[in-house]
Amino acid sequence: MNKNIKFHGNLKINDMIIHWLPTNYCNYNCSYCIAHAPIVNKNISFTDLSILKNCADKIFSINKDKYTFVFSGGEPTIYPYFIDLAEYLSKNKNTHIYLFSNGHKNKDYFSKLFSINNFNFNFSVHLEYANISHIKELIKLANTYNKYIMVSLMMNPDKKEKYELFFDELLEYRKYYYFGIDLAIIHNNEKIDKIYNKDEINWFNNSILKLKNVEEMFKYTSDIPDFFQDINTRYIFEDDKIIYLPHRVSIIENMKNFENYFCVQGINSMSINHNGDYKGSECSISPLIGNIYYDDIDYLKLIKPIKCSINDCNCRINNYSPKFKYQKECYNFTQINTPKIIPSFYLYNEVCNLKNQLNDLNNKMNKIIDSIVWFIPVKKLRDNFRNKFKTAEQSRAEQSRAEQ
Ligand code: SF4
Ligand code: SF4
Repeated sequence: MNKNIKFHGNLKINDMIIHWLPTNYCNYNCSYCIAHAPIVNKNISFTDLSILKNCADKIFSINKDKYTFVFSGGEPTIYPYFIDLAEYLSKNKNTHIYLFSNGHKNKDYFSKLFSINNFNFNFSVHLEYANISHIKELIKLANTYNKYIMVSLMMNPDKKEKYELFFDELLEYRKYYYFGIDLAIIHNNEKIDKIYNKDEINWFNNSILKLKNVEEMFKYTSDIPDFFQDINTRYIFEDDKIIYLPHRVSIIENMKNFENYFCVQGINSMSINHNGDYKGSECSISPLIGNIYYDDIDYLKLIKPIKCSINDCNCRINNYSPKFKYQKECYNFTQINTPKIIPSFYLYNEVCNLKNQLNDLNNKMNKIIDSIVWFIPVKKLRDNFRNKFKTAEQSRAEQSRAEQ
């Protein structure tokens, strides 16, 4: 099926998604943690809030209408100024914030976050630590703020009975409160971990159907936040048919292989790690661009297309990167859209740099010509040679000197 896909990703060029890790530390120590998050301790120091605010301002310099910030980690809420950062972001531009957290903080903490405009919460339920009454308490609280939260239940095979029980309880709860349920599958090296047997995959598929039924019967009347709906995940096929697949389903159906596709990662997505290193998407081959905490953004490097060389593009953030089967289409897309998102001051500086480089080159050429010309013994031939090769600029300068 993959062979017939000619495009995957988000074509809305005025959207930007930023995956940001304010810290890589975590207060949990889950056995399957792919982030290998070190456990928080009292000796660690955190990046100053002023540096993170400054980083946000740099991101806002990219010409976009909408900025979606997705925070994960580590555990983002152990960054001590997380609420201040979220408040700062929400007061700027058209900003949407998604927090992916293990939900360990108390109701007061979440009340402050739920009061922030366009704040959304994905509660990642890790069964080695989670307790169902706290989950229900936060769902109820979110509903009082009219917030739709996503409860992402980790299918930890070591806790099979517990995830089945939690799923049933959440499904029942969904009849009375509005929230999303997501079943998260453990990955290993960007593939579904082989620890799942056929029964467990069947249970996953049946549970998705059960969930769909409940959602159908108890419809949510307000808007569900974009990032929870996967509405940006568009597939276009060779016959121009367009479909949108939920993220988890596209993984299960093996629809995330874009090896040899041309990927404009960075044109509407960006990933920033805990020390400010940034790149265009959240995959292992996305090249590191620089450090956004301490340097200016290198816009052109950020949006330079790359040829994909891996066969699993599983992170949800990567859904935003436009991926083209045909290089020409990728080239056209990039040519048309690059000037739209790059700030004018950056383009101006780039033009000035090019002009300076051109002047340097001209000066070097003229020096070479001057040194060669003295090997021509006849003055007239020498002048002819010089006039042919000297740059127009220098000829003009010489002419104006002669006229004086
Ligand atoms: S909560 Fe998330 S980041 Fe923390 S240890 Fe568990 S999986 Fe890793
Ligand atoms: S894995 Fe990376 S380079 Fe490949 S398609 Fe996905 S985002 Fe693009």
